[in-house]
Amino acid sequence: MPENLAYHSPAAPERFASIDRPTLVVDRARAERNIARMAAKAAASGVRFRPHQKTHNNVEIGEWFRAAGVTAITVSSVEHAVRFADAGWDDITIAFPLVTRAMPVIRDLAARVHLGLLVDNAVAIETLRSVPDPVDVWVDVDGGYHRSGVDPEGGGLFDLREPLLGLGRHRLRGVMTHAGNSYKAHELADIREVWRRTAATLSYAAEALERYTGRRGPDDDDIGDRRLEVSVGDTPGCSVMERFAGVDEVRPGNFVFYDCQQLALGVCDEDDLALAVACPIAAVYPQRNEVLIHGGSVQFSRDAATWPYGEHYGRLATVEADGWHPLPVEAGHLRAISQEHGVLRVSPEVLAELRVGDLAFIVPAHACLPANLVRDWLFI
Ligand code: PLP
Repeated sequence: MPENLAYHSPAAPERFASIDRPTLVVDRARAERNIARMAAKAAASGVRFRPHQKTHNNVEIGEWFRAAGVTAITVSSVEHAVRFADAGWDDITIAFPLVTRAMPVIRDLAARVHLGLLVDNAVAIETLRSVPDPVDVWVDVDGGYHRSGVDPEGGGLFDLREPLLGLGRHRLRGVMTHAGNSYKAHELADIREVWRRTAATLSYAAEALERYTGRRGPDDDDIGDRRLEVSVGDTPGCSVMERFAGVDEVRPGNFVFYDCQQLALGVCDEDDLALAVACPIAAVYPQRNEVLIHGGSVQFSRDAATWPYGEHYGRLATVEADGWHPLPVEAGHLRAISQEHGVLRVSPEVLAELRVGDLAFIVPAHACLPANLVRDWLFI
């Protein structure tokens, strides 16, 4: 394989020769290394590893997790839960607040697998009475991201007391959050601080729920003897923390591929980047150092990464013997996208290397949506 600018289709290796549309290319060795590293860290910390499958949402990649010893998974919708249950997974948590309109499918799932469900309001908890088979119930607590979950500072947790006492056959398992606020960090120390604050907030919430539901007596004040579990999951925190202190379960998802956002946050290295979108080059515009690729918001979404001069949707990468490597942002980035169009801004040196008909390998700003949007996949 030629060194460096192997994204020229005439020079591209055979395995890319058939690509004629935006195609998700996954570097299996890198993804498996990312999985093994996270699994080992969870094991060394003595916490349950329940990786989120929403990033790849692909049952074949699910098998790479299974091969690494994973037995419990997280998914983000009832539909995903069914897909993974059909693929043989039998310990599944749906980490999206209960969609009460989906009860028939949820009842069916609860009969087939060990099911965990997330709730943050009384209506949802009361709806669980209609599920005959026991499920694990997790209370969604807002640890600071302000997307979903009960505010642990208000009276919201206390308000769940009665419905939780009426859970019957179901088991109140613990509290859960996604600390998406870690993505706003400016330095690694901020990510560690988000982790510590989130773990402390969730631990406080768990102990409050223990008290409200009679699991903790009035004199039973020792911090550190929690009976309810704390479950967290965000790739920045799970990648940066050397030990998963203060929690019982971790549910990162994005780490299987990583992306430009994670690279910019400093939580992964270039050679951890396991996903790129190979996009055909349709036109080259030398007068403005730009290139038109087939690959727009339909493939990349509008998730952006920041750099000193604004935002971009992905970085142009070279393909080398050991995988792809993003060029510096100024040398090649996805500057603009519309539905199917992507406009790559490149340096004059890179422009000189690009021709109509080549393939541009783009490491996306954020991997999760392209992995769910692009239909054609290639594992290398
Ligand atoms: N848990 C929940 C509830 C999530 O929504 C997400 C991602 O959005 C995750 C875990 C995984 O986080 P990440 O994608 O940062 O790995």
